[in-house]
Amino acid sequence: MWRIRFHGRGGQGMKTASRILGSAAFQAGFVVQDAPLYGAERRGAPMAAFTRVDRQAILERGVITQPDLLVVADDTLLAEPAAQPLAGCDRQCTLLLNATPTPATRPALAAYEGRLIVADFTALVREHTRTLAGLSTALGVASAYLIGLSRDAALAGLEAELSGTHLEPAQYHTNVQLAAAVYARMQDWPRVPEPVCRAAQPEVPLVTMAFAPPAQAAPSIYVMANSPERKTGSWRQFRPVLEPERCTRCWVCFVRCPEAAIALDAAQYPVIDYDVCKGCLLCAHECPTHALRVEQEVR
Ligand code: SF4
Ligand code: SF4
Repeated sequence: MWRIRFHGRGGQGMKTASRILGSAAFQAGFVVQDAPLYGAERRGAPMAAFTRVDRQAILERGVITQPDLLVVADDTLLAEPAAQPLAGCDRQCTLLLNATPTPATRPALAAYEGRLIVADFTALVREHTRTLAGLSTALGVASAYLIGLSRDAALAGLEAELSGTHLEPAQYHTNVQLAAAVYARMQDWPRVPEPVCRAAQPEVPLVTMAFAPPAQAAPSIYVMANSPERKTGSWRQFRPVLEPERCTRCWVCFVRCPEAAIALDAAQYPVIDYDVCKGCLLCAHECPTHALRVEQEVR
């Protein structure tokens, strides 16, 4: 059985990547299982998804604590205590990391004992879609390649997933082109050998979400206007940066920010608190003069 674990942030599409992989394997005749794990909808917050692929009935359930293939959607997750993406990985695990390695990521990667594949899929996504949407397609298809699925099966899995969405025909076509480009790019790397049967999965720290009533689990939710108290800056993969010469001081970003991360200075220009800004980019989308530039984080 292949055990594949995806780590990402809410909005990056790792739930869908897991589903694309599962659908692709199913189309190829395998028995599959996939399930995501995340809390209430929180764009930017760490989440995980799990895919099992086997030639026979899968009786195992629950989170995958010792993956054969680990897919990580961005390198900021490596230092994120709430994610712990490398937990449970051993020499037999292959890590597929979407990143351009930086000095900040090298210590975590240097300690990694398994096989490592680092590639900038975000650049490939931008090249094809001209947006940030499409990482699910890229990493779903890349992981399909790595476990030995054919290009046809990978594209069939993608089609099965996209058929349930409301994509415009042009967007659908762009995703198929992106998938074909990713599959071609992956030929540079050898595939993950079919895993030998492992013993029962060990207990490791991972994203776990024990249930507790909201009044007990998050009493501060009931306090008014307390968003800035929650430091969600580590969730961010992209940051909005103000270009003051384009700003008309309309306050739209200030009003729209769901985290109250934007204040106004004495001259009424927006000031972003990067300790709180979670990188949802609502402000950049809503700004009528495109005065908020989007920069990729490097940590
Ligand atoms: S400042 Fe912009 S990107 Fe940051 S949380 Fe607010 S709306 Fe989202
Ligand atoms: S929405 Fe754009 S133009 Fe308006 S205050 Fe914010 S940055 Fe300036």
